[in-house]
This record gives sequence, C-alpha cells and structure tokens, in this order.
Amino acid sequence: MESLRRLSENLFLFADTCNVYVMRNGDRAILIDFGSGAVLDALAEIGVEEVEAVLHTHHHRDQCQGDGILNERGIPIAVPARERHLFEDVEAFWRHRQLLANYDVQSDSYTLRRSVQVSHELADYNVYRWRGLELSILPTPGHTRGSVTLVGDVDGETVAFSGDLISGPGKVWRVHDLQWAYMATDGLNASISSLDALRRAKVDRLLPSHGSPIGRPQAAIDQLIENLSRLFQVVSFTPEPVSAPDLAINPRFRQVSKHLWLNASAVANFYAIVTDEGEAMLLDYGYASQDHAGDLRRFVEHSIRELMEVAAVKSIDIVIPSHYHDDHVSGIPTLQREYGTQLWAHEIFSDILEHPGAYDLACLPVESMRVDRVLKEGEEFDWAGFRFQTEHAPGHTHFAAHTFVRVDGLKLALTGDNILSSMTGPRIGGPVYRNRFELDGFQTSIRKLIEFEPQMLLTGHSAAISVSPEVLEEPLHRAEELATAFDLLTEEEEATGFSIDPRFVAVRPYRARVAAGGELDLAITLRNHRDEEAVFTIVADLPNGWKADPDSIEIEVAGGATVMCSMKLNFPRRQTPGRKIAYCLDVTVGDRRFGQEAEGLVDVLDPASVERDVGDGAASATARH
Ligand SMILES: [Zn+2]
Ligand SMILES: [Zn+2]
Ligand SMILES: [Zn+2]
Repeated sequence: MESLRRLSENLFLFADTCNVYVMRNGDRAILIDFGSGAVLDALAEIGVEEVEAVLHTHHHRDQCQGDGILNERGIPIAVPARERHLFEDVEAFWRHRQLLANYDVQSDSYTLRRSVQVSHELADYNVYRWRGLELSILPTPGHTRGSVTLVGDVDGETVAFSGDLISGPGKVWRVHDLQWAYMATDGLNASISSLDALRRAKVDRLLPSHGSPIGRPQAAIDQLIENLSRLFQVVSFTPEPVSAPDLAINPRFRQVSKHLWLNASAVANFYAIVTDEGEAMLLDYGYASQDHAGDLRRFVEHSIRELMEVAAVKSIDIVIPSHYHDDHVSGIPTLQREYGTQLWAHEIFSDILEHPGAYDLACLPVESMRVDRVLKEGEEFDWAGFRFQTEHAPGHTHFAAHTFVRVDGLKLALTGDNILSSMTGPRIGGPVYRNRFELDGFQTSIRKLIEFEPQMLLTGHSAAISVSPEVLEEPLHRAEELATAFDLLTEEEEATGFSIDPRFVAVRPYRARVAAGGELDLAITLRNHRDEEAVFTIVADLPNGWKADPDSIEIEVAGGATVMCSMKLNFPRRQTPGRKIAYCLDVTVGDRRFGQEAEGLVDVLDPASVERDVGDGAASATARH
C-alpha cells in the first residue's frame, strides 16, 4: 500500500492517480483532490479518523474517479463553480457531447462516467474556511477552463494547491489540455495569465496535482511562462493574405492549368483534374462555403453543375480526399449517390470514412461513406493517363496522406491542411492534439514532400500555391521548433508522447449500439510512448450489472510500439435502455497509474426495437449524435 509523505507538521501528500493532499487538524482532515480514493486507507497512520471535506481543483477523472466513495460515506465534496455540472450532471454532459463534426477540442472527455453529489461550490475570489484555515480561491484557467488554485497558510507557510497548472519548474503535466477550441492557442494563453496571477500571490510552495512539490515557485513559474511563450510563438501565426472570395459575387472556378481547376470558395478548397474527354477526378469535396462549414456543418450540393459547364466535364469519376476531416469529405456521399463517383482513399484513414462513429477524433464526417478503393501506403496508380503516388502524411492529423501527380508539366502535391499559407509564407496546419498528433509528424511529412520537389501545393484552405523546395524549409523549421518546445515543456522522466496524445489508450468502437442482454467486442489500442518496454494494465470500470471479459488485461508493450488487445462487454437483459452511457478503462503504465484514461459510450437499446432495426443492427457504430 502507498503511504503518506509528510510535507510539514499537518500537511501530507498521497501519490495516486493524482497527488492527493491531506491537511490535518487533530484527528480531522480535509483533502485536496481525491484520486481513486485509496488515500482513505492510509489516513489512520497519521491519526486521522474523519475526513470533513474533499476540495477539487478541476473535474478530470484522475482527480476524482473515487468520489462515489465520498457520497457513500457522506463526506462533502467541494468543486470549482465553473465545473459543477461536470461532477453532478455528467449523464447530461455525455448525452450532449458532440461526437461527429466536433471542433471543441478541450479535454472534457476526462469527465466522470457517473454523477456524484456536490455539497459546495468553490467560487472565484471567495474564501473556503475550515477550522481556522482559510483557502483563497484563485481562478486559474489553463489546464481546464474551470480550474482553480487554492492558496492558504499551512504550518506557517503559504502554499498553493495549483492543480495541473504547473507540474515542475518550466513543466506541465499535459500539453494537449492547453487547447480548447480547434487550432486555438486559448488554453495556452490563459495558462500564461493564470501563472502570472499565481506569481503575484507570492506563495512559498506550490503543490501540484502531478509532479513534486515545488520549493522555489517564482523561478519555476518564470521558467514555465518562458516555455509556454516559446510554444505560443511557434504555433501562433500571421493571418491569411487574402480572405476567401465571396460565394455570391466571385466565380467559383479558376483554371490553374489546361487540365487543372480550382474552387477556392468552397470550404475546404477543392480541385478537379479534367481530361480532354471530359472525365473528372476531384481532390477533396466538402462544404459549399465557410458559412456552410461554420456552426452549420451541413452539406448542400454546390459547384458540380458549374464545373460541368466551365470545364466541359461529363462525369465525376473519382474523388480522392487528403484526410478524413468533414470539411474535406462531407460532399462525397452526394457524389457517390448522384454522380456514381468512386471514392479512393489512403489506407491510413479509409476506415474512419466508413465508420466515423467508431472513433473519438475532431472533425469526423457526419455521414459514413463507402470506400471503393483503398490506396496502399506508397502505392503508385494510374487514372486517365495520369500517374499518381500517395504517401502517409502525418502532421495536421495522423490520418492524412499527400497525393502526388504531374499535370500539364507541373509537379503537384495535394497536401490538405498540412501546409497553409500566411503573410510570411507557408506555415504548418497545427498542432491539433485531438486530430491525433505526433511529435515528429510534420517533420516526416514535409521532408518527404521536399524530396518530391513539388512546384505547386494544392492546399485545403489557401488555394493552389507555387513553391520551391527552399520555401518549404520554413515550415520544416517550424516543425522542428515545435518539437523542441514540447520537449522543454514536458517532464524529463516521462515520454513527451504521453503529454501530447490524449488517446494513448483508445477503444473501438468509441460509440456502439447494443441490445440489452447483448454483448460488444472492444478493440483496445495501446501506444507506448516510452523508449523502453512497459507493462500496460487495463482495468474496466463499468455501470452496474455490466460485465467485462476479461475484466482486466496485462500486456507488455515494446518501446515506441502500438498494440491491440480485446475485451468483451456483456449487458444485462434487464438494463434500462439509454443513450451514450459511459464506461471507463483504468490504465497503469509500468508503476505509474494514470487512472481512467480511456472511455467509451454505449447506446443500450430495447431488444424489441433492435429486431425491428433492419439497418446496420446491433453493435454498429454509425449512430449519430
Ligand atoms: Zn487534469
Ligand atoms: Zn480543413
Ligand atoms: Zn483538416
């Protein structure tokens, strides 16, 4: 059993899925955060008989996955006011969480699977009082939007329980939590201002939720502000040189060369290669305009009739997407239905196009689509006398590919959103951690792109841009800077990969439909970001009556490797039907317990209604939000 580490006379630390801090007064105590709840068994060793309250710095599961025990024992729970609903109304959160076409990339999926009863709110700038102790509540958004830091005098020292705002001098526990909106630097910016406020609070010691207590707060905070600012500089970018043309007044198509057409009013931009016989291949085909993308996220057919007129197109034979994002593929089902178009897609993302509901990623297409031809990595293929090659191109997202082709003597590369233009030249399209992002992704893809020596990039949002290999050195340089910035920010003893990968343990299907009394096969992906081998232990945490077979898995994963394992869930016949019921997987890597790192959602259906469902049937993964 873990034991308590004494920090001062009445202040103790218990290492669990997060650091749990114990403040003692005689045989009574309050706790800051709670982890799995294992701390309760250790309290007797310091003479504590009763816990009078548990205060939370934020809502992530590693802070509170054991809170059900507190409700059972009648121990009051106090939570940040801004995150109260993420403790006591989580069923509603899960029911309403957008899964498809989702551009909200904050880390709120680390929310409890089951509600707990909350007794007190920790409101910004208020004071929490307990037996003579006063804790000031400082709003410190960053790691989450609603995070708070609690500052007070304990044993003659001013301490700050700072949650996951800082984990060590210059370090954060997780970088991916610092992005809330798509492509934004919002959480990063908020962290810098929260750290600045904390610096002005002039505390003697910082007590983080991950990492060790920090004895020289000013220097540690200054170092982190510097490191965060460095990342901010790499990822913030200058705006586009021109805004997209207005749909109503501008021509939609531009002839780039004899056989190549560009439509820059659509979001994303798309391209047509047209033969002398009037056969066309489209590269991407998404929403009609920014206003159709925006909040609407609805595809209405556009531009095809016009293309037929201006470019004498007779048939839309093939469409090849650059990556799986809805803004690049949302029109493909319509092409297939209305024009008999075939979809050819790289193997790295073809399954996402066919089963978007099986994944938890940003920007998933709302409608699933049939992939007619899966293009293998590096495959060369021909169409209408043109020779193509396609290569996996991680960066903007892991699930992307560059497609190379020579048209009218021009060497073209379809680069999707990996490269976008800015006032100062080409820039990288990211990072977006919820697209699945790797440290060296951009570097790998841009190096391969430079080898091809393209003369023109067909980009997703910056139209067709002429380039030379030298021009591409700039985004490559940015990609290297980005990797350095991550390394500086993350803890030395832990691999950077864990800090930028919100899904190093993931279940497939993420959302499933199952009849009460039925069963569901889960495929679980485990990615070991460490260089050396590690044992992954996975334990299922399920709603009442559900069973997992096996209910825990122990598996060795080689350094840098990704492995799959499987688990079967069984549902009781008497289960009340319900939508998006969450279950969790508790994850330990080596001797480090991450806690309930992964989750999945199940729609449990009335068996009678499933029998009537002549469509895709039980356990399908096409359910819509
Ligand atoms: Zn957290
Ligand atoms: Zn895009
Ligand atoms: Zn994209």
